[in-house]
Amino acid sequence: MKIDIDFKNSFNVIAGPCAIESYDSLYEIANFLKGLGVAIIRGGSFKLRTSPNSFQGLGEEAIKYLVQVCKELGLASLTEVVEVKDLQNVFQDIDILMVGARNMYNYPLLKELSTVNKPIILKRAMSATIDEWLSAAEYLQINGNDNIILCERGIRTFETATRNTLDLSAVPIVKNKSKYTIIVDPSHSTGNSAYVPAMSMAAVASGADGLIIEIHKEPNMALSDAKQLLDFDSFRELYKSIISLKKHIR
Ligand code: PEP
Ligand code: MN
Repeated sequence: MKIDIDFKNSFNVIAGPCAIESYDSLYEIANFLKGLGVAIIRGGSFKLRTSPNSFQGLGEEAIKYLVQVCKELGLASLTEVVEVKDLQNVFQDIDILMVGARNMYNYPLLKELSTVNKPIILKRAMSATIDEWLSAAEYLQINGNDNIILCERGIRTFETATRNTLDLSAVPIVKNKSKYTIIVDPSHSTGNSAYVPAMSMAAVASGADGLIIEIHKEPNMALSDAKQLLDFDSFRELYKSIISLKKHIR
């Protein structure tokens, strides 16, 4: 399904599991999100994990599940693309592509993505300055793609209380220095579900154009990033607060 998602004029909350684990679990999550009004479902397929012993994702099978579930429910699909070779065939039915933090410096991948006619989310690398990130975004435009969304997902600092340090000042700085839209990932930045609601609200207040949040029906059972996943009840509550805050600061 071709869905025209307009990040420039509407605030979008993207949500879904860190990794797609099965068709049924993805369907249940997506159906729950649809009920709340979420229109874009994220789900990891090829997972770039720090350890080769961690769950690597279901790959092409996961993409088939994501495309099928989104088609059935009338939602837009979003997953991370990791290799140039897969772009034309494996990812062709995905609505929104994401470049993960570990690939922000993968210039051949960025150049190839500049030929794609769909929205692309570019995550900030763990140690990238805002200027390096903006330069990486320029690679995505080389062949005319102007549907680029930056995503602040936390940077590496001396602080160990959170997985990364969420640099919310990046939101007004990116808006000041460029025309890109920018969303915030409170899940990978904090790495802890207890801090996701507060930082989501702070991101809305900072002027972000959207959020990308990881959820799971049973976070304790998740195959990746269990600690940072919101369960359905917590996400429902947060989603209501986000929508209400957004109305007040419009
Ligand atoms: C993700 O969003 O699935 C992810 C792996 O995040 P990051 O690239 O920011 O680590
Ligand atoms: Mn994750």
